Amino acid sequence: MTHGNLIGGRWVDGAEHIEDRNPADREEVVGVFARGTPDDMTAAVRAAGEAFPAWASLAAPARGAVLFRAAELLDGRVEQLSSEMTREEGKTLPEARGEVRRSINILRYFGGEGARLPGLLAPSERDRVLAYALRKPLGVVGLVTPWNFPSAIAAWKLAPALVAGNTVVLKPASAAPLSSWRIVEALVEAGMPDGVVNFVAGPGSTLGEAMIDGPGMRAISFTGSCEVGAEIYDRAVRRRLRVQLEMGGKNPTVVLADADLDRAAADVVNGAFASTGQKCTATSRVIVERAVHGALVERLVARTRALTVGNGLDPGTDVGPAVDQHQLDTVLGYVERGVREGATLLCGGRRLQEPPFDRGFFVEPALFANVDPRMAIAQEEIFGPVLAILEADDFDDAVRLANGVAFGLSAAVQTRDLSKALDFVSRIEAGLVTVNLPSAGVEYQLPFGGTKASSVGPKEQGPHALDFYTDWKTVYIRY
Ligand code: NDP
Repeated sequence: MTHGNLIGGRWVDGAEHIEDRNPADREEVVGVFARGTPDDMTAAVRAAGEAFPAWASLAAPARGAVLFRAAELLDGRVEQLSSEMTREEGKTLPEARGEVRRSINILRYFGGEGARLPGLLAPSERDRVLAYALRKPLGVVGLVTPWNFPSAIAAWKLAPALVAGNTVVLKPASAAPLSSWRIVEALVEAGMPDGVVNFVAGPGSTLGEAMIDGPGMRAISFTGSCEVGAEIYDRAVRRRLRVQLEMGGKNPTVVLADADLDRAAADVVNGAFASTGQKCTATSRVIVERAVHGALVERLVARTRALTVGNGLDPGTDVGPAVDQHQLDTVLGYVERGVREGATLLCGGRRLQEPPFDRGFFVEPALFANVDPRMAIAQEEIFGPVLAILEADDFDDAVRLANGVAFGLSAAVQTRDLSKALDFVSRIEAGLVTVNLPSAGVEYQLPFGGTKASSVGPKEQGPHALDFYTDWKTVYIRY
């Protein structure tokens, strides 16, 4: 069956198609999608514009009720959706289940915002004047998502946008469109009026401009690479659109000499290699105080070697494949570069090609020691299972190294010293900080996003997600 694009309430096929293939077994086609054209995108933006006045004037709790119903529908399909996600993206089945559940929770959380949409009431300086401010939707919003959290990222953009009263056009990543298509399908089944949610799959390189230039487009929320984010920003800002960008990271975990080293090693390996390291919040640098360097490295090597690489559907798999050939080549390219620049490859870094790995993009998780902070593997986002270990003289040196990159998404510290933990929280340049936890693993009730080159615009998730998707309207009434 072909998965069509959703334009103005109609599922539309295309003259050309995109095959969504399983990265663990390239022979398997998980879904075939209509390849949207710029004309499809323009039609979708127009349809969203036409649907906006009625959706915006619907009572907000009624908008929230559609999200609740969609959550119920998805709740009955967790196993199907999780298995599809593992087959389209490669992450393990437990990881996929966690993501589907998270998407459901996000829909419920923002469904509840329909009954809150907090405004502001303040005393006027003038007698007999009532002063307050309301949140109003923007209009048509374009949502562009990556492949690594193919369901949750779509959910955390769709839900606040819709409950606030906006209408949307979603463009998923071509490598994994099925999981977000399923959310859109559930929203339609839940009673979403025609044109409120539109979905156009197809190459971002041709659809992006049509989205930004679409009639009445007001805002773009993008998650993906810094390169594409910069391109979108330049074009969208020229058109005076509101822009939100969530991009890459080079996330450190600092391990101090007083840390529980077994726990630290477990958190680092989880943070670095879960989801094959294909998380924007994944740990890609470990910065270790010299006194415990040897002891930590020993633990990291043992734990990394013990990981089972394989098909995410197989019980016992810890690390699935890279999502596609391009991502695999990027990972192998950085491993080669790390060796060339003089770092020591302690384990992994090899493509697995012998059966049963010969039909997928499997690579062994790689650990590098003797990494100089100027090396590419210490500075650039790899977005795969490659971890660089750097040595620090002391706490201050560790913070300096941790902050010495362009990015500022997530960061972690492992220590038993409360004072150092709080000092780290204060000094680290990151939008998300964890203490004695992996650098990844965030929750939807709190703001999510980075600083420095990682992010532009207001944060996603949590109650403040509404800030991006609403304008304030301030009212003064004399009575
Ligand atoms: P890309 O930037 O390659 O793609 C992201 C999305 O943008 C895709 O839907 C893509 O479409 C689309 N796109 C590509 N070119 C354009 C264009 N010119 N105009 C408009 N849209 C375009 O990122 P990936 O999908 O490879 O995802 C990996 C990246 O995402 C990593 O850098 C990672 O750090 C980041 N990320 C950030 C997160 C965060 O919250 N900070 C969370 C998750 C990932 P198509 O697929 O068709 O090319």
